[in-house]
Amino acid sequence: MSTNNSNQVMGQGVMSVGEDARIFPDVEACIDCGGCVVACKRTWDVPRDEQRISISTMLEGQEAAAGLNANSAQALRQGQSPGETSVPMQCYHCENAPCVSVCPTDSLLKKDNGFVEVRDDLCVGCQYCLSACPFGAPQFPEADEGAAKLFGTGGTMDKCTMCEERQDVGKGPACAEECATDAILVGTTGQIAEELDKRGSASFFNQEAMEIIFGEEGAREFQ
Ligand code: SF4
Ligand code: SF4
Repeated sequence: MSTNNSNQVMGQGVMSVGEDARIFPDVEACIDCGGCVVACKRTWDVPRDEQRISISTMLEGQEAAAGLNANSAQALRQGQSPGETSVPMQCYHCENAPCVSVCPTDSLLKKDNGFVEVRDDLCVGCQYCLSACPFGAPQFPEADEGAAKLFGTGGTMDKCTMCEERQDVGKGPACAEECATDAILVGTTGQIAEELDKRGSASFFNQEAMEIIFGEEGAREFQ
């Protein structure tokens, strides 16, 4: 199957894969079950103390403003408390990736197909990308190898690859395919915006974050 397969519908969450595919959470569907975390670890043999995807839960145990439980994005738009909200956080392969801009060794690369790749052999473990990423995606496993060893920082950067190898053979990212509630969406920017709209859901992030992830033009599709 071609990687440039932007029209094939695979399921409710995974709408298309390959070039121009994006990954984005529907926070109103996430139930904090951790299935995505396990699927990612199992698929990529991620070490015990590292997570390429994590669930960030805000306002734990709190109810939303009246009538807005399970409508977090709507609550935020109305300036109300969204109550407990869980956000699957991973590398969103940002259009305007701050990690790429700050990396002093060009080990981070925004590729033509849209994926942000880290080239281990160039990484010196300076952790600038960790400071620049608004989503906490970069990880630094305790490995004392490669260029990082020379600088004494302990590990080179590791993060979600968006399961590019799986996408190359027409599969969706493991996290998205495992998710029982289709809370992790994969598709073009337009498909993701349309799916959120169809579900009566919305993006949870503010405008600035949306422009980092989707670019100025892409972010407008969510308005
Ligand atoms: S800024 Fe963070 S989320 Fe965006 S591409 Fe870089 S590591 Fe991924
Ligand atoms: S830790 Fe590695 S990938 Fe991150 S900014 Fe430094 S050199 Fe680049």
